[in-house]
Amino acid sequence: MALRLEGATLGYRGRPVAHAVDLELPAGGFVGLIGPNASGKSTLLKAMSRVLRPRHGRVTLGGEDLWQLSPMTVARQVATVAQGLPPAFPLLAEELVLMGRLPHLRRFQGEGPRDLAVARRALSLTGTLSLAERSLAELSGGERQRLAIARALAQEPRYLLLDEPTAHLDINYKVELLDLLRRLNRADGVAVLVILHDLNLAALYCDELVLLRAGRVHARGTPEQVLLSSHLEEVYGSRTVISRHPIRGVPQVTLVSGRDEDPAPLQGDGRRVHVVGGGGSAAWLLEALTLAGFAVTAGVLNRGDSDWVLARSLGLEVVEAAPFSPVGDGERARALELMRAAHWVVLADLAVGRGNLPNLQAVRDAMQAGGLVVVVEATPWPQRDFTAGMAAPIYAAIREGAVTTVTDDRAVLRWLNEGARETGHQTAVQEVDQRAERTRGRGR
Ligand code: ADP
Ligand code: MG
Repeated sequence: MALRLEGATLGYRGRPVAHAVDLELPAGGFVGLIGPNASGKSTLLKAMSRVLRPRHGRVTLGGEDLWQLSPMTVARQVATVAQGLPPAFPLLAEELVLMGRLPHLRRFQGEGPRDLAVARRALSLTGTLSLAERSLAELSGGERQRLAIARALAQEPRYLLLDEPTAHLDINYKVELLDLLRRLNRADGVAVLVILHDLNLAALYCDELVLLRAGRVHARGTPEQVLLSSHLEEVYGSRTVISRHPIRGVPQVTLVSGRDEDPAPLQGDGRRVHVVGGGGSAAWLLEALTLAGFAVTAGVLNRGDSDWVLARSLGLEVVEAAPFSPVGDGERARALELMRAAHWVVLADLAVGRGNLPNLQAVRDAMQAGGLVVVVEATPWPQRDFTAGMAAPIYAAIREGAVTTVTDDRAVLRWLNEGARETGHQTAVQEVDQRAERTRGRGR
């Protein structure tokens, strides 16, 4: 069972808006629809709720064409909370919610005790029971939004479609509403399709995300698969960094800056840094350098290593090796290439065993070829050497030839900014300062 769009092309009066879209809300599913303004989210929802008829393709409910079914038949299974608010009519809140029972009433029959009980429960679930006797005309936007949801719940749908249902709610009500939707989904098996603006809430609540761009599906899958910096930049044109929710572990999106309009370029200004880490030793650096605007590459890292997971979620170029396997010659050579293409190589405070010794050899080779190496030594070397001394001379050579050795990650960022000057690179921050200086000079 499912509610599906099958190759649906949608539009308004000759203007196409969505093109051959396939979208499935499986029974019991929890799907989030995301995408920029005017990408067609509401239009797809209208098609799935039998409001807008596709020009091509079909909408099906349990395999049957939605347009072959009567509106009431559809409404017994599919409820919609449209974008916007129920108007501030002089209608009692309870009357609005009872309207949700209409599809279930027999012809010429009023509501029975069960209908009233279902409506009460819907009011109670949405925290609006105390508003039952009040007129919509005197209620706030947030209260009316919750009543619109109560009305949809009173319909006892198998499929619940919601168009930005949290738009008018405070953060506490947003979370409460999404918690309620998840409870209905998990406990009662109600399938939920929800359009959300907030990507972080979408990642927290949805099992599947569908990312729209200009009326087409740009990406779909789990939040991990969809919320990639690359996708978001392609669709929203914004630079983002993806990190992990500290408790739930799902991806969370941090906006870095707009497209071109950022007047103060970040320190990195796109210059390349290759980071050699592993086992979490490079976690802070990978994220901080990326946020600061450096073009970060990493490796060699084993797939599944925590630094590998992070580097991938940041959308970085990574030289990778098989899980728990030693670094091979090809991987070592590829890492050396990235190091030579970088302005700086940062050797994080990593532990070295025989498996990742080639990383150290590659750093030494990069340095001997003129590369600028920054070494982080937060933990004394002997505590990190698991090669029975084999790595010691290589590490010593790197330390000897490094442009600097620092004792904590933060110092790396400071140094890259300062060191830039010494090595002939002017930092973006300095350029901005100088520009400001010149502007002031002209003003005098
Ligand atoms: P979203 O919900 O992603 O913001 P919509 O589906 O509301 O996007 O709109 C997609 C496009 O369709 C927009 O360009 C919008 O202007 C247009 N559109 C939406 N509704 C109508 C309508 N009733 N008549 C004509 N054009 C519309
Ligand atoms: Mg919309």
